[in-house]
Amino acid sequence: MSFANRIGDEWRAGATTRPNINPSDTTEVVGDYAQGSALDVADAVAAAREAFPAWSRSAPMDRHAILMRASSEVAARTEELATLLAREEGKTLADARGEVGRAAQILAFFAAEAVRLMGETGPSIRPGVTVEVTREPLGVVGVITPWNFPIAIPAWKIAPALAYGNCVVFKPADLVPACAWALVDILIRAGLPPGVLNLVMGPGSQVGQALVTARGVDAVTFTGSVGTGRGIAAACVAGTPMKKVQLEMGGKNPLLVLDDADLDVAVRAALDGAFFQTGQRCTASSRLIVTDGIHDRFVAALTEGMAGLIVGHALDPATRIGPVADAGQLATDLSYIEKGRAEGARLVTGGEILNRPTPGHYLSPALFTDASNTMTIAREEIFGPVACVIRVRDYDEGLTVANDTDFGLSAGICTTSLKHATHFRRNVEAGMVMINLPTAGVDPHVPFGGRKGSSYGPREQGSHARDFYTTVKTGYIG
Ligand code: NDP
Repeated sequence: MSFANRIGDEWRAGATTRPNINPSDTTEVVGDYAQGSALDVADAVAAAREAFPAWSRSAPMDRHAILMRASSEVAARTEELATLLAREEGKTLADARGEVGRAAQILAFFAAEAVRLMGETGPSIRPGVTVEVTREPLGVVGVITPWNFPIAIPAWKIAPALAYGNCVVFKPADLVPACAWALVDILIRAGLPPGVLNLVMGPGSQVGQALVTARGVDAVTFTGSVGTGRGIAAACVAGTPMKKVQLEMGGKNPLLVLDDADLDVAVRAALDGAFFQTGQRCTASSRLIVTDGIHDRFVAALTEGMAGLIVGHALDPATRIGPVADAGQLATDLSYIEKGRAEGARLVTGGEILNRPTPGHYLSPALFTDASNTMTIAREEIFGPVACVIRVRDYDEGLTVANDTDFGLSAGICTTSLKHATHFRRNVEAGMVMINLPTAGVDPHVPFGGRKGSSYGPREQGSHARDFYTTVKTGYIG
């Protein structure tokens, strides 16, 4: 079956299509998806511009109703959408259900935000003058998303953009367009006027580039890798007018395990944070920083726990770890495993390509010990089921190592010491801190984002999303 782009009020076929391949079974084509062009982007931007005056002045209650209808449909179709998600991306059906549920929650949250957007008024310093501070939509927002959360990330960018009165041109990751297409279809049938939401599928180098350089785009929200993000930010400020830009990028998230940690809690946090969803999460715990006194017991228990993680087809209920998303990412994972070995870390388990009844990109979760924080596997984001254990003397050294990174998205600590938990929460250089929890796994109603090379611009999600999707106007009334 073929799926078209959405431009203005029409579903428009691309000049070509691209097959969406199931990473659990590379003989299965999930669907054929249109490949858009720079011309399609230009038409989509023009349609969005035309729709903006009416949409930006639409009644907040109307925007609320549309987003709520979309939320209800996503929730009602959880099983079908989760199966689609698991087929195109490779996360397990259980994880995919969670992600679809998350998308429904996000749509409902921002439906309510649409009617909650109030301003402030106060007296001027000049007698008889009133000051009014209000928020207005930005205009047309370009949305560019990665492949690892095919429905949740599009939802958490598109829902606030629409709720606050913006129009959208959306370019999903070319690897996983199915859930993106389904979400757009749902939102349009929920009642969006023509041109308010446009979808142009295709490669980032063409469709993405055309979007970030288009004159009619006022802002770009992006999630993906650091290199791509840096280029997008540069393109956004190079053009006239300059575009507002928000980047969510990678992580090299530390999980610090102290001698006084509850071993079960620490192992559960490490298993989940490092390996669930095949380690393909920007919040994955790829650096396990462990103090001397618990190090050997932790490594032994974690290795035992890893032996119980069944790697297999995403739709098999027994599977705990699905395949790697595609052949390119698998090659990247394997090259980092090789670098880890070459630089002197010890591979204690995993890191092997696995054969399963269906041909797919199966890799056993890999754990390195004897790693130092200067090794490539401890510095660069791998984005696969690969973690390294870094041994430290004590809490102070652990915190120093945790902060010695170019990233700053999420950080966790496992300890029963209130003193260390509190000190870590205050002093670790990350946007999100987890105490006795995995570094991955976040709520939709509170801010998401990081520091240093992980994020640039205002936070996503929760009410803080308005800082990106609106602009402030100060009125003086005499
Ligand atoms: P990429 O940076 O390769 O791609 C992200 C998106 O940008 C894709 O839609 C891609 O298109 C598009 N793109 C690529 N080149 C350009 C360009 N020149 N101009 C405009 N758009 C472009 O990342 P991945 O998709 O590989 O995703 C994995 C990365 O995302 C990881 O590094 C991960 O850490 C990060 N990530 C960060 C999260 C966060 O919130 N901090 C959450 C999830 C992932 P296409 O792929 O279709 O060619």
